[in-house]
Amino acid sequence: MKVYLNLLIIFFAVIISSCSNNNKNTSFHLPKVSQLDEDEEVFLQKKILIHEMISASKLLHKTSWPILKENIDICNHKGSYSLGVLFATEQDLPKNDSSYYKLLLNRGINPYYFKKYNTESFPIIISVAKNSPAYESKLVERDIILEINSQKVWNFRKKLRESLTHSSLINFTILRNNKIIEKSVRGIQACNYNVQAMPAPSPNAYADGEKVFITLAAIKLAKTEDELAFLIGHELAHNIYHYNYKKGNEANNFTINYLDIPKLKNLNSFFLFSTHNKETEADLKGVEIAFKAGYSLDNVNDYWRRLSVFNPSLISSSSTIYKSNALRAIMISKTLKRLKASNEKKQKK
Ligand SMILES: [Zn+2]
Repeated sequence: MKVYLNLLIIFFAVIISSCSNNNKNTSFHLPKVSQLDEDEEVFLQKKILIHEMISASKLLHKTSWPILKENIDICNHKGSYSLGVLFATEQDLPKNDSSYYKLLLNRGINPYYFKKYNTESFPIIISVAKNSPAYESKLVERDIILEINSQKVWNFRKKLRESLTHSSLINFTILRNNKIIEKSVRGIQACNYNVQAMPAPSPNAYADGEKVFITLAAIKLAKTEDELAFLIGHELAHNIYHYNYKKGNEANNFTINYLDIPKLKNLNSFFLFSTHNKETEADLKGVEIAFKAGYSLDNVNDYWRRLSVFNPSLISSSSTIYKSNALRAIMISKTLKRLKASNEKKQKK
């Protein structure tokens, strides 16, 4: 991360110096910009951001659900249930953006329902993981939540969190194709960590004991689910082996909250306790964690090879925290080989 920051600073320094090199007096016509022009463009850019967050969250959810389910023997899973579903609510966006929520995610809902349920907006389902309790109960993306356990959707996340903590069964009143339907979902125990997307200018991933964050740049750099599964596995390994467990809850999994970041005072503190040993352990345990969830990880090292393009110095030399990308790739390959061989042995028995 630090290296990326340095690169970025150099990048901007180059831009600034190259922009100011020819300091001739020129005149140019400054267009008049109305507030309306600006508001329209801001809306367009926020819309792109929210849609990017949604598609990244869906991809991460699809990839992480089997990992959270299959690693229950090594991770913290007691204290709350999981449904395998992701929601978005108006309150997930900063206050200034809340009007966008209705425009983008509550569009087309008959105004009658807002009156009937006495609310400004309704939570909606962003993602349902395959073979999850929500999937078995036939919840689907874009379902609009009218009520949770026969209660209004005010403070939806709080109600969901409490519900997931105290009971495995949750009832939803749903609006789908202009029809009201009732659905009950019985949660199961899975690893209590949230896997979220976050905007950032460089490909990276973080863990903070409760959540895993993968930057939008890393999600775009990854070309396969195997590569994402490995990144998730690596960060989960940090959460499982290197942090004191912070109680997680599926209700805290944000999909459109682009301001949510790892809960440490600043990103540099990540590296104070990070060592070659811990990073190597996270790489190798991460392989095991993703492999256990059924990912073959065959071409997973393509991620490092692509990442090295952004950071050529890491190809062959190690930083204070990470071994070189070449060494990381080799160790990951060897670990994978060992896992596959022992799996084959087991199957032959
Ligand atoms: Zn790490």
